[in-house]
Amino acid sequence: MPQSSSDGSRQRAVILQRMAAAAAPSTHARLLAVSKTQSVDAIRVLAEAGQHSFGENYVQEAARKREALAELGLEWHLIGTLQSNKCQLAARTFDWIQTVDRTKLIAPLAQARAGIEGRLQLLVQVNVDDEASKSGCKPDQIEDLAERIAREPALQLRGLMAIPAPHADPELRRPAFARMRELFVALSARHAEVDTLSMGMSDDFEIALAEGATLVRIGTALFGARAASGGA
Ligand SMILES: *Cc1c(COP(=O)(O)O)cnc(C)c1O
Repeated sequence: MPQSSSDGSRQRAVILQRMAAAAAPSTHARLLAVSKTQSVDAIRVLAEAGQHSFGENYVQEAARKREALAELGLEWHLIGTLQSNKCQLAARTFDWIQTVDRTKLIAPLAQARAGIEGRLQLLVQVNVDDEASKSGCKPDQIEDLAERIAREPALQLRGLMAIPAPHADPELRRPAFARMRELFVALSARHAEVDTLSMGMSDDFEIALAEGATLVRIGTALFGARAASGGA
């Protein structure tokens, strides 16, 4: 059952409370509202309740929504896999791209962003559980990606993102979150501008926060279940 639009703002208040209770000491964690497949009206309701940052998985869907909601000045994050042939539109549509996982994305993003106001904020996506055919780089590739991003004036490295393997018991994802925290601390020590660790979704965000997440990506718990047919 889709939620009525007023549920979104009430659910947001509940989630912000749960986040505050779960966050690691002295961590200020941000809520990214994952709005893939959700309507422009549902996004507007949350924006009016104070939500500023929205996450989308598909570049074209996000470009459409951004244009429809331009007057609200929202912040848009790409959290879906980025194909090389979408770099141009992605660099113009998003404020943040959380899914940089290979070197060949970097030059096209930098070129497409040049001349646009504000640097494109990037997270390196890590395949923390080393799953076959999953997006994300290996942990030992993080530093090479970070250095290449740091050389591009139009790009700014902000941290790391991960989607741990989908265990039925979310508690089994805790070691992956802890490993991400170690990788994040090591990266922050080498790159002063790194301040964001994006991990945790509707069913595991409290565990992720306890392990040091600074940004959680939440869809279902905010908007209700997505239509089964999914995206684009
Ligand atoms: C869809 C999605 C989310 C949100 O998942 P929910 O379980 O609905 O909270 C978070 N992160 C990524 C990368 C996603 O694709």
